[in-house]
Amino acid sequence: MEAWRRRLDEPVRAFPIAKAGPAHVATLKTFDPPLVALEGRRLAGARRRAKRLYFPSEDGELVLLVHLMTAGRLRYLRAGEKGPKAPAFRLEFEGGAQLVLTEAGSKKRAGVWLLTPEQLDDELGHLGPEALGLGAEALAEICAREPRRLHSLLRDQRVIAGIGRAWANEILHHARLSPYALAQELRREQIEVLATAMNTELERGLELRERGANDKRTYRVHDKLHEPCYVCGTPIARVDFEEHTIYYCPECQTGGRVLKDRRLSRLLR
Ligand SMILES: [Zn+2]
Repeated sequence: MEAWRRRLDEPVRAFPIAKAGPAHVATLKTFDPPLVALEGRRLAGARRRAKRLYFPSEDGELVLLVHLMTAGRLRYLRAGEKGPKAPAFRLEFEGGAQLVLTEAGSKKRAGVWLLTPEQLDDELGHLGPEALGLGAEALAEICAREPRRLHSLLRDQRVIAGIGRAWANEILHHARLSPYALAQELRREQIEVLATAMNTELERGLELRERGANDKRTYRVHDKLHEPCYVCGTPIARVDFEEHTIYYCPECQTGGRVLKDRRLSRLLR
């Protein structure tokens, strides 16, 4: 998401908005203020909070919030550049440039909200601190108060904002920690390693995304079942946990143990 933000920050400021919409009925989540209220205003740039992108208007009165979910894509098209015929959402700037939201597949999950700054605060208020740059001190406090397994804790946006299931896999692998390890049982050194792994992996992802890398090239553990671990060569394993699929290296992360599906078995590890 941070890579998207950086890419869009400059161009969205270049011209005032000529036309806001149309938006797919399932994509636009708000009706008041109406989309037309954006027309004639200029955006102040692109901001990010966790996995949400938002675009405040320069006059500080409105904010366009976008949540891409898993299949949404946001593209800035220069004047004359060919775009999709029926995007889920379109913002047209004076001079002909466009910001378009498309979503692969038939399910419309991505969302667009037009909010006042106060409504935006309400919308984002429940999010935890940003993962990138969190640091060992703050992470230690979080771990001490959360009786949770690491994979589920890292993914919980109310606790730490900005890590999805894929990066939870990458980060835990980098930190050599079991996805089932209990946050409250981590030793201080492990917390430091985890804090470093969060930064290293998120920065790595950011860099690759900025160079245009796809998922396949960006991830090294996530979605790599049976492929050799990039550290030790052991085939990557997979386990289902709380509706999510976890990928991990049994050698690097769980001392050779194969994790059991927690939905079927109460057995730990
Ligand atoms: Zn390994």
